[in-house]
Amino acid sequence: MTIVRDLKARDKMNNLPQLEIYIHIPFCVRKCLYCDFLSYPSTQKERRDYVIRLCEDIRAKKDLALEYVVSTVFIGGGTPSLLEPDQITEIFMALRDTFCFVESPEITIEANPKTFDEKKLKTWRNLGINRLSIGLQSANDNELKLLGRIHTYEDFRAAFEMARIAGFDNINVDMMIGIPAQTMQSLKKTLSEGISYNPEHISVYSLIIEEGTPFYRIYGPQSATAGCDNTKQKGTLWDELPDENAERDMMHEATRVLLENGFEHYEISNFAKCGFACRHNIGYWERIQYLGFGVGAASLIKGCRYKNSEQINSDPHEKVGETESLSLEDEMSETMFLGLRMLKGVSLDEFKYKFNTSIQEAYPEAVEKNIKNGLLEIAHARIRLTKRGLDLANVVMSDFV
Ligand code: SF4
Repeated sequence: MTIVRDLKARDKMNNLPQLEIYIHIPFCVRKCLYCDFLSYPSTQKERRDYVIRLCEDIRAKKDLALEYVVSTVFIGGGTPSLLEPDQITEIFMALRDTFCFVESPEITIEANPKTFDEKKLKTWRNLGINRLSIGLQSANDNELKLLGRIHTYEDFRAAFEMARIAGFDNINVDMMIGIPAQTMQSLKKTLSEGISYNPEHISVYSLIIEEGTPFYRIYGPQSATAGCDNTKQKGTLWDELPDENAERDMMHEATRVLLENGFEHYEISNFAKCGFACRHNIGYWERIQYLGFGVGAASLIKGCRYKNSEQINSDPHEKVGETESLSLEDEMSETMFLGLRMLKGVSLDEFKYKFNTSIQEAYPEAVEKNIKNGLLEIAHARIRLTKRGLDLANVVMSDFV
Protein backbone atom coordinates (compact mmCIF):
# COMPACT_ATOMS: atom_id res chain seq x y z
CA MET A 1 0.00 0.00 0.00
CA THR A 2 2.77 2.40 0.94
CA ILE A 3 4.58 1.53 -2.28
CA VAL A 4 1.47 2.29 -4.36
CA ARG A 5 1.02 5.60 -2.57
CA ASP A 6 4.71 6.45 -3.09
CA LEU A 7 4.47 5.60 -6.79
CA LYS A 8 1.40 7.80 -7.15
CA ALA A 9 3.19 10.64 -5.39
CA ARG A 10 6.22 10.13 -7.65
CA ASP A 11 3.95 10.10 -10.74
CA LYS A 12 2.30 13.32 -9.66
CA MET A 13 5.67 14.89 -8.96
CA ASN A 14 7.00 13.87 -12.37
CA ASN A 15 4.20 15.88 -13.98
CA LEU A 16 5.08 19.06 -12.14
CA PRO A 17 7.05 21.78 -13.97
CA GLN A 18 10.73 21.92 -13.19
CA LEU A 19 12.22 24.71 -11.13
CA GLU A 20 15.81 25.82 -10.63
CA ILE A 21 17.01 27.38 -7.41
CA TYR A 22 19.80 29.94 -7.05
CA ILE A 23 21.15 30.86 -3.63
CA HIS A 24 23.36 33.93 -3.32
CA ILE A 25 26.03 34.05 -0.62
CA PRO A 26 27.44 37.60 -0.77
CA PHE A 27 30.56 37.11 1.34
CA CYS A 28 34.22 37.05 0.31
CA VAL A 29 37.44 37.13 2.30
CA ARG A 30 38.24 40.37 0.53
CA LYS A 31 37.21 42.05 -2.67
CA CYS A 32 39.11 41.16 -5.85
CA LEU A 33 40.22 44.31 -7.64
CA TYR A 34 38.06 43.74 -10.72
CA CYS A 35 34.93 42.51 -8.98
CA ASP A 36 31.57 44.24 -9.20
CA PHE A 37 29.52 41.25 -8.02
CA LEU A 38 27.36 41.67 -4.96
CA SER A 39 29.94 40.54 -2.41
CA TYR A 40 31.88 41.92 0.52
CA PRO A 41 33.99 40.95 3.53
CA SER A 42 31.88 39.99 6.55
CA THR A 43 31.98 39.06 10.23
CA GLN A 44 31.00 35.64 11.57
CA LYS A 45 27.86 37.19 13.04
CA GLU A 46 26.82 38.70 9.71
CA ARG A 47 27.19 35.31 8.05
CA ARG A 48 25.24 33.58 10.81
CA ASP A 49 22.39 36.12 10.67
CA TYR A 50 22.32 35.96 6.88
CA VAL A 51 21.91 32.17 6.88
CA ILE A 52 19.05 32.40 9.39
CA ARG A 53 17.19 34.90 7.19
CA LEU A 54 17.94 32.88 4.07
CA CYS A 55 16.42 29.75 5.65
CA GLU A 56 13.32 31.73 6.70
CA ASP A 57 12.95 32.99 3.16
CA ILE A 58 13.27 29.47 1.73
CA ARG A 59 10.70 28.05 4.16
CA ALA A 60 8.31 30.92 3.38
CA LYS A 61 7.97 29.48 -0.14
CA LYS A 62 6.30 26.30 1.09
CA ASP A 63 3.02 26.90 -0.81
CA LEU A 64 4.71 27.81 -4.07
CA ALA A 65 6.99 24.79 -3.69
CA LEU A 66 3.99 22.42 -4.01
CA GLU A 67 3.65 23.42 -7.66
CA TYR A 68 7.18 22.51 -8.75
CA VAL A 69 9.89 19.92 -8.67
CA VAL A 70 13.46 21.18 -8.29
CA SER A 71 15.90 20.02 -10.95
CA THR A 72 19.01 22.05 -10.06
CA VAL A 73 20.41 24.14 -7.23
CA PHE A 74 23.30 26.58 -7.68
CA ILE A 75 24.93 28.14 -4.64
CA GLY A 76 26.86 31.10 -5.95
CA GLY A 77 28.38 34.32 -4.74
CA GLY A 78 30.46 35.79 -3.44
CA THR A 79 32.24 32.84 -1.95
CA PRO A 80 29.76 30.23 -0.68
CA SER A 81 32.68 28.00 0.37
CA LEU A 82 33.31 30.55 3.15
CA LEU A 83 30.26 29.30 5.05
CA GLU A 84 30.80 26.79 7.84
CA PRO A 85 29.60 23.20 7.28
CA ASP A 86 26.71 23.63 9.76
CA GLN A 87 25.54 26.77 7.93
CA ILE A 88 25.42 25.00 4.56
CA THR A 89 23.66 22.10 6.32
CA GLU A 90 20.98 24.48 7.66
CA ILE A 91 20.37 25.82 4.16
CA PHE A 92 19.94 22.30 2.81
CA MET A 93 17.59 21.34 5.64
CA ALA A 94 15.41 24.32 4.71
CA LEU A 95 15.53 23.35 1.02
CA ARG A 96 14.69 19.68 1.64
CA ASP A 97 11.90 20.59 4.09
CA THR A 98 10.34 22.93 1.56
CA PHE A 99 10.88 21.57 -1.96
CA CYS A 100 10.57 18.24 -3.78
CA PHE A 101 13.54 17.32 -5.93
CA VAL A 102 13.87 15.26 -9.12
CA GLU A 103 15.66 11.95 -8.67
CA SER A 104 19.11 13.21 -9.68
CA PRO A 105 19.26 16.95 -9.24
CA GLU A 106 22.41 18.83 -10.22
CA ILE A 107 23.62 20.72 -7.15
CA THR A 108 26.56 23.09 -7.58
CA ILE A 109 28.57 25.12 -5.10
CA GLU A 110 31.09 27.79 -6.09
CA ALA A 111 34.35 27.56 -4.20
CA ASN A 112 37.47 29.64 -3.83
CA PRO A 113 40.56 27.39 -3.54
CA LYS A 114 41.69 29.06 -0.34
CA THR A 115 38.43 28.65 1.55
CA PHE A 116 37.63 24.96 1.88
CA ASP A 117 39.07 21.88 3.50
CA GLU A 118 38.33 18.15 3.76
CA LYS A 119 35.65 18.69 6.39
CA LYS A 120 33.69 21.11 4.21
CA LEU A 121 34.05 18.87 1.16
CA LYS A 122 32.77 15.87 3.12
CA THR A 123 29.76 17.84 4.38
CA TRP A 124 28.95 19.08 0.89
CA ARG A 125 29.04 15.54 -0.50
CA ASN A 126 26.84 14.24 2.31
CA LEU A 127 24.31 16.97 1.59
CA GLY A 128 24.07 15.86 -2.04
CA ILE A 129 26.18 18.61 -3.58
CA ASN A 130 27.52 16.89 -6.69
CA ARG A 131 29.16 19.67 -8.68
CA LEU A 132 31.98 21.97 -7.66
CA SER A 133 32.93 25.16 -9.47
CA ILE A 134 36.43 26.33 -8.59
CA GLY A 135 37.69 29.79 -9.50
CA LEU A 136 41.23 29.39 -10.82
CA GLN A 137 41.28 32.37 -13.25
CA SER A 138 44.99 32.00 -13.98
CA ALA A 139 47.79 29.51 -13.36
CA ASN A 140 50.26 32.41 -13.12
CA ASP A 141 50.77 33.77 -9.63
CA ASN A 142 51.69 37.23 -10.89
CA GLU A 143 48.33 37.47 -12.67
CA LEU A 144 46.45 36.17 -9.62
CA LYS A 145 48.15 38.78 -7.49
CA LEU A 146 47.38 41.54 -9.96
CA LEU A 147 43.70 40.50 -9.95
CA GLY A 148 43.69 40.68 -6.15
CA ARG A 149 42.78 36.99 -5.79
CA ILE A 150 43.43 35.52 -2.34
CA HIS A 151 44.86 32.24 -3.64
CA THR A 152 47.94 31.06 -5.50
CA TYR A 153 48.15 28.45 -8.22
CA GLU A 154 49.50 25.99 -5.65
CA ASP A 155 46.36 26.58 -3.53
CA PHE A 156 44.25 25.62 -6.55
CA ARG A 157 46.30 22.47 -7.15
CA ALA A 158 45.87 21.31 -3.56
CA ALA A 159 42.15 22.23 -3.53
CA PHE A 160 41.42 20.38 -6.76
CA GLU A 161 43.16 17.21 -5.59
CA MET A 162 41.38 17.35 -2.24
CA ALA A 163 38.03 17.67 -4.04
CA ARG A 164 38.74 14.61 -6.19
CA ILE A 165 39.69 12.58 -3.11
CA ALA A 166 36.43 13.70 -1.46
CA GLY A 167 34.56 12.16 -4.41
CA PHE A 168 33.70 15.17 -6.59
CA ASP A 169 33.54 13.80 -10.13
CA ASN A 170 31.99 16.86 -11.74
CA ILE A 171 34.26 19.88 -11.36
CA ASN A 172 34.27 23.16 -13.26
CA VAL A 173 37.33 25.37 -13.45
CA ASP A 174 36.89 29.10 -14.18
CA MET A 175 39.59 30.77 -16.29
CA MET A 176 39.97 34.36 -17.39
CA ILE A 177 41.20 36.12 -20.51
CA GLY A 178 41.93 39.81 -20.98
CA ILE A 179 43.94 40.17 -17.76
CA PRO A 180 46.25 43.22 -17.86
CA ALA A 181 49.62 42.26 -19.35
CA GLN A 182 48.38 38.71 -20.04
CA THR A 183 50.19 37.17 -22.99
CA MET A 184 49.27 34.31 -25.28
CA GLN A 185 52.04 32.34 -23.63
CA SER A 186 50.67 32.88 -20.11
CA LEU A 187 47.17 31.92 -21.31
CA LYS A 188 48.58 28.73 -22.84
CA LYS A 189 50.12 27.89 -19.49
CA THR A 190 46.80 28.43 -17.68
CA LEU A 191 45.02 26.23 -20.23
CA SER A 192 47.54 23.40 -20.12
CA GLU A 193 47.79 23.43 -16.31
CA GLY A 194 44.00 23.53 -15.94
CA ILE A 195 43.45 20.73 -18.46
CA SER A 196 46.12 18.57 -16.80
CA TYR A 197 43.72 18.02 -13.84
CA ASN A 198 41.14 16.60 -16.23
CA PRO A 199 38.18 18.70 -15.05
CA GLU A 200 34.77 17.89 -16.52
CA HIS A 201 34.00 21.51 -17.35
CA ILE A 202 35.91 24.72 -18.06
CA SER A 203 34.49 28.25 -18.29
CA VAL A 204 36.54 30.94 -20.02
CA TYR A 205 35.43 34.48 -19.23
CA SER A 206 36.67 37.84 -20.44
CA LEU A 207 37.72 40.32 -17.81
CA ILE A 208 35.40 43.31 -17.95
CA ILE A 209 36.62 46.56 -16.43
CA GLU A 210 33.50 47.63 -14.53
CA GLU A 211 32.90 51.15 -13.31
CA GLY A 212 33.28 51.57 -9.55
CA THR A 213 35.95 48.86 -9.17
CA PRO A 214 39.59 49.55 -8.29
CA PHE A 215 40.44 48.20 -11.74
CA TYR A 216 38.32 50.90 -13.35
CA ARG A 217 40.34 53.54 -11.55
CA ILE A 218 43.59 51.86 -12.58
CA TYR A 219 42.77 50.57 -16.04
CA GLY A 220 39.59 52.40 -17.03
CA PRO A 221 39.55 55.00 -19.81
CA GLN A 222 40.38 57.81 -17.38
CA SER A 223 43.72 56.13 -16.62
CA ALA A 224 44.80 57.32 -20.04
CA THR A 225 46.10 60.87 -20.22
CA ALA A 226 44.08 63.70 -18.69
CA GLY A 227 41.28 64.94 -20.91
CA CYS A 228 41.22 61.57 -22.60
CA ASP A 229 38.89 60.96 -25.46
CA ASN A 230 38.35 57.31 -24.64
CA THR A 231 40.96 56.12 -27.11
CA LYS A 232 43.86 54.01 -25.99
CA GLN A 233 47.04 55.90 -25.27
CA LYS A 234 50.45 54.33 -25.36
CA GLY A 235 52.33 54.28 -22.10
CA THR A 236 49.27 54.26 -19.83
CA LEU A 237 48.06 51.40 -17.65
CA TRP A 238 45.04 51.09 -19.93
CA ASP A 239 47.53 50.17 -22.58
CA GLU A 240 48.37 47.01 -20.60
CA LEU A 241 44.95 45.53 -21.32
CA PRO A 242 44.91 43.12 -24.24
CA ASP A 243 42.98 44.92 -26.99
CA GLU A 244 39.93 43.53 -28.75
CA ASN A 245 41.97 41.66 -31.34
CA ALA A 246 44.34 40.16 -28.78
CA GLU A 247 41.40 39.10 -26.64
CA ARG A 248 39.66 37.51 -29.60
CA ASP A 249 42.86 35.63 -30.48
CA MET A 250 43.03 34.39 -26.88
CA MET A 251 39.44 33.12 -27.05
CA HIS A 252 40.21 31.39 -30.33
CA GLU A 253 43.28 29.77 -28.80
CA ALA A 254 41.33 28.65 -25.71
CA THR A 255 38.62 27.18 -27.94
CA ARG A 256 41.16 25.38 -30.13
CA VAL A 257 43.03 23.87 -27.18
CA LEU A 258 39.88 22.82 -25.34
CA LEU A 259 38.33 21.19 -28.42
CA GLU A 260 41.59 19.34 -29.04
CA ASN A 261 41.42 18.04 -25.50
CA GLY A 262 37.96 16.53 -25.78
CA PHE A 263 35.78 19.39 -24.56
CA GLU A 264 32.61 20.35 -26.35
CA HIS A 265 32.07 24.10 -26.85
CA TYR A 266 28.38 24.34 -25.93
CA GLU A 267 27.97 27.99 -24.95
CA ILE A 268 29.90 31.18 -25.73
CA SER A 269 32.07 30.89 -22.58
CA ASN A 270 31.54 27.26 -21.60
CA PHE A 271 33.18 23.96 -22.49
CA ALA A 272 32.30 20.51 -21.16
CA LYS A 273 33.28 16.88 -21.47
CA CYS A 274 30.46 14.72 -22.87
CA GLY A 275 27.51 14.68 -20.44
CA PHE A 276 28.87 17.41 -18.16
CA ALA A 277 27.36 20.60 -19.59
CA CYS A 278 25.98 22.65 -16.68
CA ARG A 279 22.26 21.80 -16.42
CA HIS A 280 21.55 24.82 -14.24
CA ASN A 281 22.94 27.35 -16.71
CA ILE A 282 21.32 25.61 -19.67
CA GLY A 283 18.07 26.05 -17.76
CA TYR A 284 18.66 29.82 -17.64
CA TRP A 285 19.38 29.99 -21.34
CA GLU A 286 16.32 27.87 -22.11
CA ARG A 287 14.23 29.96 -19.73
CA ILE A 288 13.21 27.29 -17.25
CA GLN A 289 11.58 28.95 -14.24
CA TYR A 290 13.94 29.78 -11.40
CA LEU A 291 13.73 31.10 -7.89
CA GLY A 292 16.54 33.16 -6.38
CA PHE A 293 17.20 33.38 -2.65
CA GLY A 294 19.45 35.90 -0.93
CA VAL A 295 20.40 39.50 -1.61
CA GLY A 296 20.22 40.63 -5.22
CA ALA A 297 19.04 37.23 -6.45
CA ALA A 298 16.68 37.26 -9.43
CA SER A 299 13.68 35.01 -10.08
CA LEU A 300 11.70 34.14 -13.17
CA ILE A 301 8.44 32.56 -12.20
CA LYS A 302 4.93 32.39 -13.69
CA GLY A 303 5.83 34.86 -16.45
CA CYS A 304 7.21 37.45 -14.01
CA ARG A 305 10.72 38.52 -13.22
CA TYR A 306 11.76 40.10 -9.95
CA LYS A 307 14.93 40.82 -8.03
CA ASN A 308 15.54 40.72 -4.29
CA SER A 309 16.81 43.80 -2.53
CA GLU A 310 20.58 44.30 -2.66
CA GLN A 311 20.62 45.61 0.92
CA ILE A 312 21.88 42.88 3.19
CA ASN A 313 19.89 44.07 6.18
CA SER A 314 16.62 44.55 4.35
CA ASP A 315 13.68 42.21 4.66
CA PRO A 316 14.67 39.28 2.45
CA HIS A 317 11.11 39.13 1.09
CA GLU A 318 11.35 42.73 -0.07
CA LYS A 319 11.81 43.11 -3.80
CA VAL A 320 13.46 45.98 -5.64
CA GLY A 321 11.08 48.07 -7.75
CA GLU A 322 8.15 46.58 -9.55
CA THR A 323 7.86 42.97 -10.41
CA GLU A 324 8.25 42.89 -14.15
CA SER A 325 5.50 41.04 -15.90
CA LEU A 326 6.88 39.76 -19.20
CA SER A 327 4.93 40.41 -22.39
CA LEU A 328 4.92 37.95 -25.26
CA GLU A 329 7.46 40.17 -27.06
CA ASP A 330 9.73 40.10 -23.98
CA GLU A 331 9.52 36.32 -23.87
CA MET A 332 10.31 35.98 -27.57
CA SER A 333 13.23 38.37 -27.25
CA GLU A 334 14.66 36.50 -24.23
CA THR A 335 14.22 33.18 -26.02
CA MET A 336 16.37 34.54 -28.84
CA PHE A 337 19.18 36.36 -27.06
CA LEU A 338 19.54 33.71 -24.35
CA GLY A 339 19.09 30.77 -26.72
CA LEU A 340 21.67 32.11 -29.18
CA ARG A 341 24.28 31.96 -26.41
CA MET A 342 24.27 28.19 -26.87
CA LEU A 343 26.09 26.87 -29.90
CA LYS A 344 23.17 24.64 -30.85
CA GLY A 345 21.06 27.81 -31.14
CA VAL A 346 17.27 28.05 -31.07
CA SER A 347 14.87 25.46 -32.47
CA LEU A 348 12.69 26.92 -35.24
CA ASP A 349 9.87 24.48 -34.49
CA GLU A 350 9.87 25.02 -30.74
CA PHE A 351 9.78 28.78 -31.20
CA LYS A 352 6.83 28.50 -33.59
CA TYR A 353 5.01 26.07 -31.30
CA LYS A 354 5.48 28.34 -28.30
CA PHE A 355 4.77 31.73 -29.85
CA ASN A 356 2.57 30.84 -32.79
CA THR A 357 4.86 32.70 -35.17
CA SER A 358 8.16 31.80 -36.77
CA ILE A 359 11.49 33.40 -35.88
CA GLN A 360 11.74 34.73 -39.42
CA GLU A 361 8.31 36.36 -39.12
CA ALA A 362 9.02 37.80 -35.68
CA TYR A 363 12.48 39.19 -36.56
CA PRO A 364 12.64 39.48 -40.38
CA GLU A 365 15.33 42.17 -40.51
CA ALA A 366 17.56 40.79 -37.75
CA VAL A 367 17.51 37.31 -39.29
CA GLU A 368 18.10 38.46 -42.85
CA LYS A 369 20.85 40.94 -42.00
CA ASN A 370 22.82 38.58 -39.75
CA ILE A 371 22.56 35.64 -42.14
CA LYS A 372 23.70 37.92 -44.99
CA ASN A 373 26.64 39.11 -42.88
CA GLY A 374 27.64 35.53 -42.07
CA LEU A 375 26.92 35.86 -38.34
CA LEU A 376 23.88 33.56 -38.16
CA GLU A 377 23.01 30.37 -40.00
CA ILE A 378 20.08 27.99 -40.20
CA ALA A 379 20.98 24.32 -39.96
CA HIS A 380 19.17 21.19 -38.74
CA ALA A 381 15.99 23.21 -38.13
CA ARG A 382 17.78 25.55 -35.73
CA ILE A 383 19.12 29.09 -35.99
CA ARG A 384 22.55 29.59 -34.49
CA LEU A 385 25.65 31.76 -34.41
CA THR A 386 28.32 31.02 -37.00
CA LYS A 387 31.98 30.88 -36.02
CA ARG A 388 32.27 34.56 -36.95
CA GLY A 389 29.01 35.29 -35.16
CA LEU A 390 30.54 33.93 -31.95
CA ASP A 391 33.12 36.73 -32.08
CA LEU A 392 30.38 39.31 -32.48
CA ALA A 393 27.70 37.66 -30.35
CA ASN A 394 26.76 40.87 -28.54
CA VAL A 395 26.15 42.66 -31.82
CA VAL A 396 23.91 39.85 -33.09
CA MET A 397 21.97 39.56 -29.83
CA SER A 398 21.31 43.28 -29.63
CA ASP A 399 19.28 42.90 -32.86
CA PHE A 400 16.81 40.68 -30.98
CA VAL A 401 16.34 42.93 -27.96
S1 SF4 B 1 36.01 35.87 -5.14
FE1 SF4 B 1 34.57 36.30 -6.80
S2 SF4 B 1 32.82 37.34 -5.85
FE2 SF4 B 1 34.53 37.39 -4.38
S3 SF4 B 1 35.51 39.34 -4.71
FE3 SF4 B 1 36.60 37.85 -5.98
S4 SF4 B 1 35.57 37.91 -7.98
FE4 SF4 B 1 34.24 38.94 -6.49
